[in-house]
Amino acid sequence: MTDILELARQQVLENGKGLDEAQALECLQLPDDRLDDLLQLAHEVRMRWCGPEVEVEGIVSVKTGGCPEDCHFCSQSGLFSSPVRSAWLDIPSLVQAARETAATGATEFCIVAAVRGPDARLMKQMREGVAAISAAVDIQVAASLGMLTQEQVDDLADMGIHRYNHNLETARSYFPNVVTTHTWEERWETLAMVRDAGMEVCCGGIVGMGEMLEQRAEFAAQLAELEPDEVPLNFLNPRPGTPFGDLPVMPAAEALKTVATFRLALPRTILRYAGGREITLGDLAEKGVVGGINAVIVGNYLTTLGRPATDDLEMLAELKMPIKALSETL
Ligand code: SF4
Repeated sequence: MTDILELARQQVLENGKGLDEAQALECLQLPDDRLDDLLQLAHEVRMRWCGPEVEVEGIVSVKTGGCPEDCHFCSQSGLFSSPVRSAWLDIPSLVQAARETAATGATEFCIVAAVRGPDARLMKQMREGVAAISAAVDIQVAASLGMLTQEQVDDLADMGIHRYNHNLETARSYFPNVVTTHTWEERWETLAMVRDAGMEVCCGGIVGMGEMLEQRAEFAAQLAELEPDEVPLNFLNPRPGTPFGDLPVMPAAEALKTVATFRLALPRTILRYAGGREITLGDLAEKGVVGGINAVIVGNYLTTLGRPATDDLEMLAELKMPIKALSETL
């Protein structure tokens, strides 16, 4: 039988065709003594099909906490006892956050709200906020506002939203174990509308929520079918008070195998480190950036502190990885 990494070298690195579900599973099942080989191949794939640039993005929460949905990992759900207070951000604060994000060299500024989907008040806040940011700051604006109607999709496209984030979170077969207040298919429908409206699609999820390796491979294949422009990869950071609060933190080697496998399944996508990597990888975060990752978030995440912006920028400088410039992405 051909070794999976030899096969992937030919299929993914040489021909640019991502791993299928069964092949992804083989990579996830590799023993720890093959981890460095796997990371090396994923790095070569990323350099060959994406190039050396790293996309830097900032994120701000316009509405935090009090969400009516029950995503079991999320401390922003109003249904759990997790200590996140409900709060709204005003327009001057949004512009200031965009300005600080742009100052780090970031090209993408994502406005996030903890909602099932936007209401009229949030859509109005978005229209005013995006207009104010566009007038004051040279940065592309992305949004993550939950599930959308066609009218809302059209409105966001009209406002000039460049990229829309909506995570499928996990494999279709595991989703009912994670969320019961809406379906995976509802999420998929929003993503299809977003793509059809011409916005870039950002869609990823969280690994380490108790899913089997088979389901992690299934998720990679489902993302590949969606063909998102960007995939944010989170590792579960078990939050007190949430139903997943007592799950174990994923071992670092497993997290790195996941990063590299997702890169091999999605050779051309922007693969972004999102939440949970500090607790999962600690100082090994660098290994992911030379194992397939080509985007990072600067500054704080939504409800937990990330590393300071400068730490990541220093890491990229040490790795001699240039930050993607705005002009290249327009
Ligand atoms: S993940 Fe989003 S939709 Fe789910 S509970 Fe958290 S804020 Fe709400």
